[in-house]
Amino acid sequence: MDDLSSLLLSAIEETERLALAANLKQDDPEWYAHHVAGSHPRTFRIRSAQDHCPIAEVSDIESDAEVLDPTGVLDGEATARHIARNDPSSVLRRCAADKRTVELHRNNGGFCSRCYTGSYDEEGSGGYPYTVIQFEPYPCATLRNTAEGYGLTDHQEGEE
Ligand SMILES: [Zn+2]
Repeated sequence: MDDLSSLLLSAIEETERLALAANLKQDDPEWYAHHVAGSHPRTFRIRSAQDHCPIAEVSDIESDAEVLDPTGVLDGEATARHIARNDPSSVLRRCAADKRTVELHRNNGGFCSRCYTGSYDEEGSGGYPYTVIQFEPYPCATLRNTAEGYGLTDHQEGEE
């Protein structure tokens, strides 16, 4: 196992642990958001989809500056929907997909085991042609992009 794959798998597994810890109950990992009170500011609640138990509550935050300061404003509805969209089941699905990406894009002697940049034909022994496949240097763009999604951005191209 190489550096970026190990770092990435560690980051994915930590994300999975957090998602599992945030499960209210083992089989209730899906959340939704709904408006519960107020019109100014509004309050939204995030609930588990199965039991409808409350998970969290988010309210609009309005700027208390005399002149509107947009940096001091929080849209409670957008925030609540964002939290619900990133419920444990969604996070676990993305983690499983990212683990499969790591498995597919392994370090094979300094080249990605899957991605190639092109090919060319060569003449082999006895005059029979064969095709040489040029694999992408490891870590490939797919693996680097996946790592970036976990905040692993220090890995430069060509580095191992
Ligand atoms: Zn690759």
